Amino acid sequence: MISFDHVTKRYGGFTALDGVSFEARPGRVTGFLGPNGAGKSTAMRVAAGLTPATSGRATVLGRPYGTLPNPGRHVGMLLDASAQHAGRTGREVLTLGAILTGVDRRRVEETLDLVGLTEKEAGRRVRNYSLGMRQRLGIAHALLADPEVLVLDEPANGLDPAGIRWMRDLLRGYAARGGTVLLSSHLLNEIERVADDIVVIGHGRIVAGGTTRELLAGSGTTVRSADDARLRSALGTAGLSASPLAAGGLLVDATPEVVGAVALEAAVVLRELRSGDGRGLEEMFFDLTADAAREEVAA
Ligand code: ADP
Repeated sequence: MISFDHVTKRYGGFTALDGVSFEARPGRVTGFLGPNGAGKSTAMRVAAGLTPATSGRATVLGRPYGTLPNPGRHVGMLLDASAQHAGRTGREVLTLGAILTGVDRRRVEETLDLVGLTEKEAGRRVRNYSLGMRQRLGIAHALLADPEVLVLDEPANGLDPAGIRWMRDLLRGYAARGGTVLLSSHLLNEIERVADDIVVIGHGRIVAGGTTRELLAGSGTTVRSADDARLRSALGTAGLSASPLAAGGLLVDATPEVVGAVALEAAVVLRELRSGDGRGLEEMFFDLTADAAREEVAA
């Protein structure tokens, strides 16, 4: 379990985190989603005890990270994959990690295997690694002690589609065995495929949170029928607003039951009827990202 309780972080007059509260629960993958500059890394650094909060508190397994006895055994972190010592080989990086956390050296070979770094790659110096290999090594390092909690900042950066899929399976398996995973990304489609829960951050504030299913369902009902024009007119007569979807069908501001009843009344055959279409989250995220992009241009 990771908990943020009204965490605020100021750098001089700039507020990077503004009263951030959320939890990442065991047995679940929590996706921390926000455009670049939203405050994801800052929040993760606060949880890892690397950056002190100005006010509020972040705890991991019920305590501030720094007060956990041997935190490296309980919490695996990947905060900056480029921070590995460039002159060491991948195997050396992991061996040092194993010594520092008191983990059996045999785990080094196991984790190399787990993240798919070959014998030859493990023997190469990190300075000669691609970004994707560095991410794999960073994930291996986080998994060394087989911790209960994983905190990964943008772990998919630099991974190819097969790598992203591999990571998704790895994290889902880890959570299925009871682990807590908090991972950040600035890409909605990356998060929605792996996360059970999503927390959205923009300008240092949490702007949405819930299960992925709830958030993607958004509000309203998506309906496709044999005659959308007639259905739309019947919905209008019933006082319901319906907007056409780009991919065909309508998004109606009402529950599926109500939409079904209107369709029955109008004798329109339905082809699909379901809650929401994910527009809510996607549009909100699009707005946040557009804001961030404008600020980058202005800066
Ligand atoms: P994200 O991880 O979502 O891209 P960050 O947490 O890295 O966002 O950054 C959030 C904001 O805080 C950014 O505007 C960034 O410039 C600012 N920031 C981060 N670290 C510092 C620092 N050490 N000093 C001043 N500002 C910082």
